Amino acid sequence: MTRGADARTAPDVLPRGVPGHDEEVGMRSRRHPARPLVALLAAGALTAASSAASPAVAPTAAVPASPTGTHPHVPAPAYPLGTLLPEPVTDPDDASLRLGLAPHHDLARRLNELVATSDRVSAQVVGSSVEGRDLVLVTLTAPEGPDEAREQDRLRDRILADPVRAARDQELRERYKVPVLITANLHGNEWEGTDAALRLVEEWATSDDPDVLQTLESTRVHLMVSANPDGRVGNSRRNAAGFDLNRDLLTVSQPETRALRDVVVRTQPAMVLDVHGYVNGPLVEPTTPPHGENYEYDLFLKHAWPNALGIEEAILGLGLDDGDGVRPPQVPLRDWDEGWDDWPPIFLPQYAALHGAVAHTVEVPLRVNNASYDLPEEELRRRAAVNVDVARAAMGATLDYVRDHREELIADQVEIFRRGTAGEVQRPVPEGLFGVVGPEDVSVTKYPRAYVVPAGGRQRSAPAAARLVRHLLDHGVQVERAEAPVVVDGTTYPEGSWVVDLHQARRGVAHALLGQGTDLSDRVEAMYDISGWSLGLLWGADVVPVRPGSGDGWDVPRAPVGTVPGQGQVAPSSRGWVLELADPADVRALGQLLSWEVGATLLPDGTVHLPVSAAWAVEQVADDHGVHLAGASAAQAEAAGTEEAAVLARPPVVGVAATAEERWVLTDMGLTVRPVGTDELNEGLDLSDLDTLYVSTGLAMDQLDEEARAEVRSFLAEGGGLVARGAAANHLEDALDLLDVTVVAGPGDANGVVAVTDEDGPVAGDGPGHTFVYGPRWFTDLPDDVHVEQRFADDPLVSGHWRPGGTGPDAAAGEAVLVRGTTDSGGRVVLIGSEPLFRAHPLGQHAVVARALLWTGLLPP
Ligand SMILES: [Zn+2]
Repeated sequence: MTRGADARTAPDVLPRGVPGHDEEVGMRSRRHPARPLVALLAAGALTAASSAASPAVAPTAAVPASPTGTHPHVPAPAYPLGTLLPEPVTDPDDASLRLGLAPHHDLARRLNELVATSDRVSAQVVGSSVEGRDLVLVTLTAPEGPDEAREQDRLRDRILADPVRAARDQELRERYKVPVLITANLHGNEWEGTDAALRLVEEWATSDDPDVLQTLESTRVHLMVSANPDGRVGNSRRNAAGFDLNRDLLTVSQPETRALRDVVVRTQPAMVLDVHGYVNGPLVEPTTPPHGENYEYDLFLKHAWPNALGIEEAILGLGLDDGDGVRPPQVPLRDWDEGWDDWPPIFLPQYAALHGAVAHTVEVPLRVNNASYDLPEEELRRRAAVNVDVARAAMGATLDYVRDHREELIADQVEIFRRGTAGEVQRPVPEGLFGVVGPEDVSVTKYPRAYVVPAGGRQRSAPAAARLVRHLLDHGVQVERAEAPVVVDGTTYPEGSWVVDLHQARRGVAHALLGQGTDLSDRVEAMYDISGWSLGLLWGADVVPVRPGSGDGWDVPRAPVGTVPGQGQVAPSSRGWVLELADPADVRALGQLLSWEVGATLLPDGTVHLPVSAAWAVEQVADDHGVHLAGASAAQAEAAGTEEAAVLARPPVVGVAATAEERWVLTDMGLTVRPVGTDELNEGLDLSDLDTLYVSTGLAMDQLDEEARAEVRSFLAEGGGLVARGAAANHLEDALDLLDVTVVAGPGDANGVVAVTDEDGPVAGDGPGHTFVYGPRWFTDLPDDVHVEQRFADDPLVSGHWRPGGTGPDAAAGEAVLVRGTTDSGGRVVLIGSEPLFRAHPLGQHAVVARALLWTGLLPP
């Protein structure tokens, strides 16, 4: 359970050798390099370098924020860093080998050779994958002594902290080395960006081309050579936890995305290139509309458009044609009407754009993954080699563009941050620009003046508020603490509340995270991926926007926040305590309490009672998890002794047929999870050891053999519980007549943030009022003994894409989205029509699922 602990005391920089880093390496027994560190470096430089060697390594914290909530100033390293990478053991099964590409175990060896021989190449470990592989950041730049390195960092910080001064800073204009970030292999089975990056580093390590030398003098080129090494080795788009990392940049639930986020925040790139595959002809962003509303699109497109044309020209210059199977490049903004938008900053380039970068996805053309991976090896290697050439050409063109437009790129990043700091309105991109900008590309965002995250509000949201503020700090957002009570729209919030003033350089990051988002339903036919998200509405904390007309009572004396102390509290009580299970932190705290056998009792209202004798344990979990424990009321203390309550000996054992992300969230909350899909059941899985099931996908009754079907039926008949979500709620209700309700399915691609009303039952509790849907479902024709726990609000869609008419949001208004009941044979069932665990994003709803599992699995019938 301790992996869920609030690890706020963990250091930001983990020295090698401490548990928590090496632990993850486990039995992989990596061979450390036998060679001594590069001798040519002075001892002083080495010290600085080694302290910077793993700045972003966080322990595998279960909360999606890195632990300290701060980015303390790391001493400026001199370039080259001089550190060598640990070299992993050879893995003959690495999926890259069949493609003739660099296997993961060769990356460190090849980079170490370059580090040892070239003073332009640095490599450092900036994180660790789920399976413990190093995440490596390479930096290419002309050598910098400690003084120059410090100066570069000072100039970078000035752009962010004082853009007005930076705008007229002659020294900055002349001397600042533009940071460029090239990322590859974020999707693990899109391999070739890594090989192109290696080729670039190898060529530039020794090149005497004057253009290269000039670029090395005027830029720092950072390369995340393989952003998803587990996927590279394992032939998987996703990381080893089953997450699509290029959808996780806002939530940052995974160690790989945490490392990438930290690299973006620390290096502050002005240009980003993210190499993917496979689209033929090669695809080069900028995208079709709708465009992300939280970046300065006029300044973005000013560079993204000409750079895309440069990349296109470089790819055409390779002379590839039909004979090679390569079609001409395509730029969606120019060549498509819609279908490849840059709306959600869950993608790396769009996320980086919030930080003042001009950013592109590039898709190399020739498919080598999925079914194509089985092509004859010769053809596979031919394709991979072409793809490496295309990726290398895109990198070269981009670096040429940066060299030739260095001053403008710097000036425009300064201008982005200046507009933010001054709170200026966005400037619309001129219609007709470059002959490709149409009216559908033009829009301007109205930012609120600030956001307030109340302290000491509802007790249930205290850990959520602290986590949200830490998350904002980790994303580089400035947060302040109010030194007096704050008034917004007539409501007073206590001194100590957190204030996010949107007059700040990274207002786009802050607003993308905290804003409620926009309803896009009538703007386009369909979206490429999700169109709604909101940490402000979905993470369980109260977040109050300050808009024009909200008054100026928010503008009180404030102090900058660097770290967020734990918010744990235990009320004085002589009747024991109640843990409300409103937040994932509460669920983790419960798991810890159960492991200590302190006599916890699940009450019929869905809360957990702890006896007076558990005082020490209660104090400990409040500290460890930042949770609140209220004093038990007389009624609750009495209920704990009745037959309707359940003494909890352990967390529920849950059979799960669900997405990898859902499985990850349940495990991360400390629940014991066992797979129960169609295959497992047909292989004779015995369900009798399980308390309840969570099913969203992968269990099809009509594909079960007779014995397996009987096993499911008898599990439910003998009082086993079931939580069924989405399509599985539909399917299992039809197949098993669980609650005798009608399930209505909305459009499969409808998605977004929706408002719900909670009925304060044992499952939904008194929830935060919003959840997420993707292919929403709802329940009608409810029998009397089926209880509604959550309904869609009258006007449910807050942000996202869900068109009216038919099964639109108007049809769902007021309908039940979460119901509970008991089957004729006495099994407890919860049906859910929303996506409370979607990509681990709606943190404020995760505990609802945990409560559903406790209610269905552990309460007596
Ligand atoms: Zn991709």
